[in-house]
Amino acid sequence: MGSVKAVVYEEYGGMPALADVPEPQCPEGGVVISVRATGVCRSDWHAWKGHDPVVLPHVPGHELAGVVGEVGPGVRDWQVGDRVTVPFVCGCGRCAWCESGEAQVCPDQTQPGFTGPGSFAERLAIHGADTNLVRLPDSVDFVTAASLGCRFATAFRAVTTHGRIGAGEWLAVHGCGGVGLSAVMIGVALGARVVAVDVNPAALERASSLGASAMVDARATTGVAAVVRDLTGGGAHVSIDAYGSPELAVASVRGLRRRGRHVQAGLLLGPRSTPPLPMDLVVSRELEIYGSHGMPARDYPAMISMIEAGALRPGDLVGQVIGLEEAGAALAAMDHLSPAGMTVVRV
Ligand SMILES: [Zn+2]
Ligand SMILES: [Zn+2]
Repeated sequence: MGSVKAVVYEEYGGMPALADVPEPQCPEGGVVISVRATGVCRSDWHAWKGHDPVVLPHVPGHELAGVVGEVGPGVRDWQVGDRVTVPFVCGCGRCAWCESGEAQVCPDQTQPGFTGPGSFAERLAIHGADTNLVRLPDSVDFVTAASLGCRFATAFRAVTTHGRIGAGEWLAVHGCGGVGLSAVMIGVALGARVVAVDVNPAALERASSLGASAMVDARATTGVAAVVRDLTGGGAHVSIDAYGSPELAVASVRGLRRRGRHVQAGLLLGPRSTPPLPMDLVVSRELEIYGSHGMPARDYPAMISMIEAGALRPGDLVGQVIGLEEAGAALAAMDHLSPAGMTVVRV
């Protein structure tokens, strides 16, 4: 059996290093993808730290784009050579949720780089190809596409499907990392007025350059929600916790106007996973609360056509492009503040 190069860690917190791993086997109904680019994401860092348990040794990576290299029996829609990406939540392809296009909540879901080997590798297997693969037009390059799989797609679903943002409405974005800055760009493209909230002046500057109308430095106030309500004339129509913390989730809900919509896009992990949400306000102001867990493959074409039309430019959010041999160090460097912009590995 052949082998492929991949970034592997043997223990939580141990430096991930380039190694030879066994060639992935093409599953029935699935494909093997030759990875061309893969994003470095804080979710990978959480797994590496042991916050989100994985089987060791482990290959991280879940934001991938590449080319179909092998097609298993029973695949209907895909051929060798197709340019593709996949959502970070892959559905089983057989259950009622998958059949109705809601693979993001499939009870038998798999997540590359979490439930199995990920995309910090030359090749990886993806099952349920007809449910999970997303076709990439030639005009969308692999590095740009690698930034869609998790953060940008999550933000797109949060702002559009759940937030249903309209032109002229106020969108508050709490936490301006990868998901947050994506949400700012998407909100601006859809004609919303955006308030960006963060503790990092560089992140706020980035949000401003992407078209946010107002910036709130959360370190400079004890009442973020009140500041957001003032800036927006009574509260945001839609507000997103794009980072995932009890404080941000609560501030997001408190900063909404009546009938406003909170979307929890940031993952809440570990012992602080249950925010004390003000359900009294949810009732009296008739607020809507949504959880957003990635985006199913079915919903990608709407986003990809906005990218093709130039209305969305996710490539602008890519900070640095590195090689596979540098990917492990880039993951470990997330112990410190995230670098400006997304890091993408060219494989
Ligand atoms: Zn399923
Ligand atoms: Zn991610």
